[in-house]
Amino acid sequence: MTDQPDEIESMLRAAGIRVTSQRCTVIAALVQSHDHPTAEDVHARAKSVDSSVSFATVYRALATLVDAAIVQRIAVDDGPARFEMAPKTEHEHLVDVDNGEVLELASEELAALRSRLAAELGYEILSQYSVLRVRKLKKS
Ligand SMILES: [Zn+2]
Repeated sequence: MTDQPDEIESMLRAAGIRVTSQRCTVIAALVQSHDHPTAEDVHARAKSVDSSVSFATVYRALATLVDAAIVQRIAVDDGPARFEMAPKTEHEHLVDVDNGEVLELASEELAALRSRLAAELGYEILSQYSVLRVRKLKKS
């Protein structure tokens, strides 16, 4: 993944989406984020690049990019949704219920197990999506 303007534009074109500077700014903000930002966070980061970009514009751009599978939306039960560039490798998200922090849990073993179990039921997995609500273990 890159924040090179050319590559962002070709990503949009490949998805059949019109290239706008706002969409490019939103993608660039997400590519540089590794913390699963909320729409508000993305807006704050986009604004630091282009001060004219409004929250509504960022929100619409995110919705378009999610529809195009360029961006993944992570629904969080008791808080605003989080966003990330569509991951290249499957991973689960852990949401810390106490501070809202989003962590990633990546396991090839788990992915393989899931595929095997689905295959045993006669299915292949097309997409998977899960959010695990977690709380830090208390040290005793
Ligand atoms: Zn993630």
